[in-house]
Amino acid sequence: MITIPRYIVVDEGRDALYNILSKLRLKNPLVVVGRRTKKYAPDFDYLYYHEIELEEEHIKKITRGYDSIIGVGGGRSIDIGKYMAYCSGIPFISMPTTASNDGIASPVVSLGQPSVLVDPPIAVVVDLDIVRKSPRRLLSAGFGDVISNITAVLDWKLAHREIGESYSESSAIFSKTIAEELMDYVLRSNSLSQYPEKLIKALIGSGITISIAGSTRPASGSEHLFSHALDYLKRRYQLDVDSLHGEQCGVGTIISSYLHCKEGNLQYEDMENIRSSLKKVGAPTTGKELGFEEEILIEALSIAHTIRRRYTILREGISRERAEEILRECEII
Ligand SMILES: [Zn+2]
Repeated sequence: MITIPRYIVVDEGRDALYNILSKLRLKNPLVVVGRRTKKYAPDFDYLYYHEIELEEEHIKKITRGYDSIIGVGGGRSIDIGKYMAYCSGIPFISMPTTASNDGIASPVVSLGQPSVLVDPPIAVVVDLDIVRKSPRRLLSAGFGDVISNITAVLDWKLAHREIGESYSESSAIFSKTIAEELMDYVLRSNSLSQYPEKLIKALIGSGITISIAGSTRPASGSEHLFSHALDYLKRRYQLDVDSLHGEQCGVGTIISSYLHCKEGNLQYEDMENIRSSLKKVGAPTTGKELGFEEEILIEALSIAHTIRRRYTILREGISRERAEEILRECEII
């Protein structure tokens, strides 16, 4: 069964929210916010996400009496709100205040690895003025999460070819086109004046491809495994690095596209376009810009295939020696 958002409003989102709530006959939502996004929250009961204990019984207790959850913010408020709605069996409305990852419209809850597939938001309501004013760094990171669709789709196709994994050409094309259109715009535009609007639409589209495919395959491949490996190493060695998911995925996309170029699945020119477009939106394109030591990047690439069972261009894994060579060859270190 495919479930996708019923209402998507990008522009005057805050005004549209009340209309959507009445269409959905929802009267008593509970809002989940962060400290910085509280000012954008609609006027209903609210909780700060960092004060919520993520235990199922506890969540059911605190959501009792509410008919829906609204997540207002960037990453955590949306993820936690989505998870609370899932645990309580009530609809979730996503009100992103920035565009840093595709969780804003997807059925994925990423509170750890492995991520959980739940129902997607019933509505995605975006006020573009708020997104435009959001930190530049978050808007750059979002580009990394969109562009990763290119290598995610190549990995998916490879898994179909080599191990017979089920594959949907329509989901793959949808996902890849979203990334390529945004990349073309970034490379062509001088002012990038429409960038926030195009970016948030691309992230919403990415989330929908995940709903249609019923898997994160169209938007998550080896570049995401690399990013998850970096997150794992950050925790393991308690590293003081504040790199964002989308930033790590962007660098991961350069690495994965290089590996696909070497096997003839992609042109080197495409890989350079990925790198230049990331640079143009101000996203990191090297390990140093992400804030990691070379050793950590090498370890991440050599353990990335172990993070989850997902067949990608990394196949059974890459030795540390080879990982180092690859990272040097594609100029990440
Ligand atoms: Zn992602």
